[in-house]
Amino acid sequence: MCAPEPLSAEHFCSSCRTPFQNGFPLDEEGRCALCRSGLRGFDAAYCFGGYEGVLRELIHLYKYGKVRTLAEALGGLMAQALPRDEAFDAVVPVPLYWRRRWQRGFNQAELLARVQSRRTGIPILKALRRVRATPNQAGLSNSERRRNMTQAFRCGGRGEKPLAGKRILLIDDVLTTGSTAAACALALKRAGARRVAILTVARVDRRMEGRRLAGTYSNSGETSEW
Ligand SMILES: [Zn+2]
Repeated sequence: MCAPEPLSAEHFCSSCRTPFQNGFPLDEEGRCALCRSGLRGFDAAYCFGGYEGVLRELIHLYKYGKVRTLAEALGGLMAQALPRDEAFDAVVPVPLYWRRRWQRGFNQAELLARVQSRRTGIPILKALRRVRATPNQAGLSNSERRRNMTQAFRCGGRGEKPLAGKRILLIDDVLTTGSTAAACALALKRAGARRVAILTVARVDRRMEGRRLAGTYSNSGETSEW
């Protein structure tokens, strides 16, 4: 196995860091259409690599093979993607619905969040709850995914704005369409968070989709919800 490689692209959205084949989808400020529309919910997205090859195998071993000790190595890769000059007040893992958490025995995002918290000294805050299971997202369009997700997360804590003014580093293993991250970010902002950046090990690189056989990816039933 060769070492996983960081994601590289010549054209990135300046806000969500989505890689593009060329600069056409980006406006003068370098933002993609989703970020322009305000549908993103989060302010920035950082990830180590594309969800493919060795990195994808490692994430599968960790998540589905339940090799929890891989959290250290994957957390180390994630840390490389975090800008050194950005300050955060809390590290928040994307929660799993209780039934999923119980089936797997652990929340993959939470173990990764613990690694980030330990490395940075930023406290971990389990601010989010998943209040309903979200059906399998595979086969849904982006807007359907967003609708599906919007009401899935709640922010706990006392008072109306328990996260007032806080800068949140949201943690998940894979960024697929960003609909989970967006729903979490909206819940955090409703609770008063000032800024939400999502950090993941990998992201689905849309540039690869044309190269994959239609179906191998979308019919696999595999989404970040698992
Ligand atoms: Zn964008």
